[in-house]
Order: sequence, then C-alpha cells, then structure tokens
Amino acid sequence: MKTTRLYQQDRYIKEWDAQITSVTEDNGSLIVTLDKSAFFPEGGGQSCDLGMMGDYEVIDVQEKDEEVYHKVKPAEGENSADGKPAPLQEGDAVHCVLDWVRRFDNMQRHCGEHILSGIFFALFGGVNRGFHMGQDYMTVDISLEEDPDVKEITYEDALRAELEANKVIWADEPVTVMHFESREEAEKMPLRKALAFDEDITIVSVGSIENAADCVACCGTHPNTAGQVGLIKIYKVENYKGMFRIYFEAGARALNDYRAKHNILTELSNKYSSSIEDFPSKLRAQEEKLADAKSELHQIKKAFTDNECAKLDALMAEAGDDSKVTVYEVEQLGLDDVFNMAKRYMGSCKGLIMLYSIKDTSYILVSDGNIDCGGLVKEYASFYKGKGGGNKVSARGIFTSKEDAEMFADLVQKHLK
Ligand SMILES: [Zn+2]
Repeated sequence: MKTTRLYQQDRYIKEWDAQITSVTEDNGSLIVTLDKSAFFPEGGGQSCDLGMMGDYEVIDVQEKDEEVYHKVKPAEGENSADGKPAPLQEGDAVHCVLDWVRRFDNMQRHCGEHILSGIFFALFGGVNRGFHMGQDYMTVDISLEEDPDVKEITYEDALRAELEANKVIWADEPVTVMHFESREEAEKMPLRKALAFDEDITIVSVGSIENAADCVACCGTHPNTAGQVGLIKIYKVENYKGMFRIYFEAGARALNDYRAKHNILTELSNKYSSSIEDFPSKLRAQEEKLADAKSELHQIKKAFTDNECAKLDALMAEAGDDSKVTVYEVEQLGLDDVFNMAKRYMGSCKGLIMLYSIKDTSYILVSDGNIDCGGLVKEYASFYKGKGGGNKVSARGIFTSKEDAEMFADLVQKHLK
C-alpha cells in the first residue's frame, strides 16, 4: 500500500479524516497505517510530526517503502477519552489532528536553514555538508569548496550572510515545491547541491527560479512564503573538521532567544542602575573599583599580618627556647591567610607553631621538620571530627567547632610534652 501524503499537496492541513489500512503490534507498540496522512515522517534532518489519531496520541512517525507508519498510544491527560478508548481497527474511519505548533516550528526552522544555506552558497561558494536541529540552536557545517578565493568564514562574514538571509524573509519570497520524474529534468534547476536520486525528485526553491535564494532537493515541510520564517539569527562560527560550523536559530525560537537574552541584560543593567547601552562601561568601571579594593585589601592584610607576626615573635621570645609548642590565635584572617602568615615560619621556626584561625575554627601547624605537622593532623584530628593534612613542615587541621579544635590542640601539646 502507498500512503497518500497530504503534506505534499497542502502544507497547511491541520485536521483530516482518514481510513485505517492496517493495525499491527510491534514490541508492545501499536503501529497504524492510513490511506492518507498529513503526519510528516522523520527524515532529511527534520523530526516527525506528532498529534492525535482519534483518542490515540501519535508518538512517532516513520516511513518505509512509500508507506507511513504511525506509532500510537491511548491518549493521556487532557486528550484522554473517558474510559479506555475503542480499539483502532482496519477499515475504520479516524479523525486526525496535527500538533500544528510543533509542525510550524519545524517549518520555520527548516526553511530558515534553506535560506541561510542558499546565501552561504551564493556569497562564499560554501556547501552545506551537515545539519543539526538541536533543542537550543541549529547548526550547519559549511564546506568552502566552490570558490578557491574564499578561505574562511569569519563571524563578520556570517553576519553579512545573516543580513542577506533576513532580506529574503523581508521580501517574503515564495517557497515553491516542484516534482520531477527524472534527474535530467531536475538538473535544469539552479541547484546548489548535486542530486542524490535519479527519479521522483522533489526540488524546493526559495524565490524565483531566475534568481533563487535557494534551490535544492528536499522532501521536508516548508511554509509557502519566506516571510513566515520570521527571523534568522546567527550566534557563532566555529572551525569544524576543516569546515565552518554556523550556530543559528530561526522563527519563534530566534524571537524567544532574543527575549531571554534581553531579560538577562535588563536584569543585569537594572542591578547596576544603568541603561542596557551604558551597561558595559558601568561594568568596566565596577571592575576597576573592585581591582582597587582588592589591592587595598592586600596591603591592609599584609600590614595586619606583620603586626600579628610581631606579637607572635614576642610571645615565643618570652617563652624561651625550651618551649616546644606555641599556640597563637589569629583574629580576622581566614585559614588561607593564616597559612600565608605561617609560611614566614615554615622550616625555620623552633618547635611547633599552631596558628588558630578564629574565623574558620581551624589550625595551621608549622615546624622546622623535626616535628611532623602532617603526621600530627593525620593521627589526632579525626578524634574531633577534624579533617585536613599536610607534610612535615606544614599542615592544616580543619574543624567544625572551636571546642573540637581546642581539644585537638590540647592533645597535640600533651603528646609533645
Ligand atoms: Zn527542505
């Protein structure tokens, strides 16, 4: 059997009545064929149509040997019938409804790809060698093989192509679908890509044949005018396996992307009490202020650390040479800054110094290497829910409370007595 493909006759059919020509089960799924269908089967880089078939949801559409196969399941949620839907049977009439939002989205994006590919061919002799329709963007891989003078596509080049593509949309050029029986006939068209078939060829052209913005063999679904694509926006250009991968979006998705980015920019500029236009300069000014503040903080920390070291030196001088362990509490500084302070004593101090960060309730241990700092942390910190580690001359003992840290320090001191 051969399914009559309604989308080839009219791309705007959204509802129709059909007759069921077969119902089969495949791995627990219900597969239905119809005498006529407007459901586009997956192919040529375009995803399939979805929708409703009576009380059943169409969840996948594939084609094989000129027949269109619809995978269906009883509808759930708002589309569900009361009770169990009646079984689908060969010979029955069934009313079909296309998910038009999805189809139109596909048509806008797919036709956007046509227009942009045609423009890349016209401007740079670039051939579309790969296409991907993702959730967040589409890509085309453009191979520069027709014009030896063109070696690369820069982002500026791509923006030129973007403008030309949008001009095709603004001119609302017609999108024409033509069928040819033979390769010979089809090749009279100004094609941008060699034909892959010898017979039964469908050619899609954007604009007049004499001056087509695009002309290529394609079996997908397209709007009947370029204006319905709405908008084409290129996001970036990347080198890809010797080709140029163009990231872009078309139609409602390009508008949605504009909205999302506009919202982000509005929110950020409001935060900086700025207009969107002034936002970059406000941000730069803020970054300069931040750099100044960082450098000031660095100076202040250094002076503070000098002062703390002087106090620690005095404390150690007072304790004399017999003292094995010096415990010193450092105010204000976090553990990383305390570690920087400890570096001044690392490998050169007498005995063990335990610097306590009040802010982080943790210790930095330093020694000249005769007392194994890392070994002490490894052996005793875990008794008090502590973590950390280090080497012979320095270690971190990280604790979650002052009490635990103090008990650890007591134990270390007892051990070293
Ligand atoms: Zn197409």
